Amino acid sequence: MRLILLGAPGAGKGTVAKLLTQVDGSVQISTGDILRGAVQAGTALGKKAEAFMKAGDLVPDDLIMGIMETRLQEPDCAKGFLLDGFPRTIPQAEALKALLAKLGIKLDVVANIEVPRQEILNRLTTRRTCVNTECQAIYNVRSQPPKVEGVCDKCGSPIVQRDDETEEAISKRLDTYDEKTSPLIEFYRKEGLLLVVDSPSSEGVVAAITARVSG
Ligand code: AMP
Repeated sequence: MRLILLGAPGAGKGTVAKLLTQVDGSVQISTGDILRGAVQAGTALGKKAEAFMKAGDLVPDDLIMGIMETRLQEPDCAKGFLLDGFPRTIPQAEALKALLAKLGIKLDVVANIEVPRQEILNRLTTRRTCVNTECQAIYNVRSQPPKVEGVCDKCGSPIVQRDDETEEAISKRLDTYDEKTSPLIEFYRKEGLLLVVDSPSSEGVVAAITARVSG
């Protein structure tokens, strides 16, 4: 399947994308994961992105489009892709539309995962992420703790609170989402691609998406 997952930070896009990869082998493409990997590896991209990310601001559109133009043409995308955290602005959505037209690719659906703001805040402040850039598994100290405190079940690396998951950065990221990303809902509604999902569980969101894509 070829889809975009929209939703505020903490809406569960990453978890849903990971579950969807198991459905038909589509790959998850998370710009956040790619950027965190670049920051940790100290690449030129990482150096340019780091300050924006720490502050809870968006990384400039041209850097993001550079990443995506390359990534979408890698061979593993042929089976399908799940875009998680991209596009985040109207210029990114316009640029993606042009890129997909150039590559002859059609999107199946744009799923907007709706979660109440208070629930988002609760989830983000209790979220923990594996530091291993190859893994980046997500835990929650309340609802989904690792078996051993502070240690990733999957790869044994430490799990930590992300730099941008302090209360101040979270509130900035949510404001940024409202201002810059939420207009994409209307953009994709007009394109006839929007599916709104408000199931409280990731499994419910996955079921709604797979029903729409296969139906
Ligand atoms: P995420 O893990 O998707 O919440 O992304 C973490 C941070 O990476 C965001 O707060 C932004 O600073 C940056 N980022 C990720 N994806 C994008 C994007 N598509 N456009 C701009 N910045 C992004």
